[in-house]
Amino acid sequence: QTIQDELVSAIRTIKDYPKEGILFRDITTLLGDARAFRRAVDALVQPWAGSKVDQIAGIEARGFILGGAVAHQLSAGFVPIRKKGKLPHETVRIAYSLEYGLDEMEMHKDAIKPGDRVILVDDLIATGGTAEAACKLLRSMGANIESACFIVDLPDLGGRKKLEAMNVPVRTLVEFP
Ligand code: IMP
Repeated sequence: QTIQDELVSAIRTIKDYPKEGILFRDITTLLGDARAFRRAVDALVQPWAGSKVDQIAGIEARGFILGGAVAHQLSAGFVPIRKKGKLPHETVRIAYSLEYGLDEMEMHKDAIKPGDRVILVDDLIATGGTAEAACKLLRSMGANIESACFIVDLPDLGGRKKLEAMNVPVRTLVEFP
């Protein structure tokens, strides 16, 4: 069984969540499968084995779970990118558009030093709006974004292209049409 097959079968699909017509790809089943979780993290970090990465930036909330594991594996630090109002110290903030309306995300001002080599991590990329905003935030602090990594790509929604257009290399493990 290829790793792609194993990861695809470890991901659960929920119909009509969070609203009608949506097929939600639920990675909690993958996280709960010890072998699949390890294989996913190992596969994500593989291009950087032995190279120096300073910080892993994870997007709330599933990006925290994966990002923590990735940071440990690469002996890098971890930087949380959070919904507004959750971080206690001085922050930088960016607004981004969701399917309906706007939201804002932020990170601590002192979390990244100019020139830091950073990898962004989240569970899934769809339209890429969330990851694009996170990349802008990281770059505003002087980060060198090595890559944005996701377990799942929904290629029809164009997120990969959006990030590649801003010169962020994208790494994903499986696709769902
Ligand atoms: P985007 O901004 O359209 O790329 O949406 C990606 C963000 O929404 C990520 O933070 C994902 O965790 C979340 N998301 C969107 N669709 C799904 C899904 O089907 N399963 C899990 N998360 C999703």
